[in-house]
Amino acid sequence: MPDCLFCKIVAGEIPAKIIKRAEDALAFRDIDARAPVHVLVIPTRHVAAVRDAKGADAEKLLGRLLAFAAQVASEQGLDSDGYRIVTNTGRNAGQSVDHLHFHVLGGRKLSWPPG
Ligand code: 5GP
Ligand code: ZN
Repeated sequence: MPDCLFCKIVAGEIPAKIIKRAEDALAFRDIDARAPVHVLVIPTRHVAAVRDAKGADAEKLLGRLLAFAAQVASEQGLDSDGYRIVTNTGRNAGQSVDHLHFHVLGGRKLSWPPG
């Protein structure tokens, strides 16, 4: 297992504001919120990025995480006004933590397209 910040959050070794927990997925508030609601959804097992979700259970894992993220958004009251789910992958996208995560952003009008 790599020395991974988000694996440590899963293990409870680093504190986080956890808002939804399941055996295979975890949702917690981003430490540097960019919107009134800014939640990170991660798999509880280490996968570095969406490009590394390969093999027999990749579609199951990615589908599960996206559904989990949509449930989080709904529970955060974002269904009526809308929200964004995004995952950064690698250097060009600015991925800064190498453990797959979906950002769930909402609570204000979000700019598009991204810079
Ligand atoms: P990325 O830039 O990889 O797409 O997103 C990583 C996110 O993780 C950033 O939005 C950053 O604010 C968040 N983050 C980094 N370190 C921590 C931490 O220790 N706790 C929490 N809750 N979020 C973190
Ligand atoms: Zn990890």
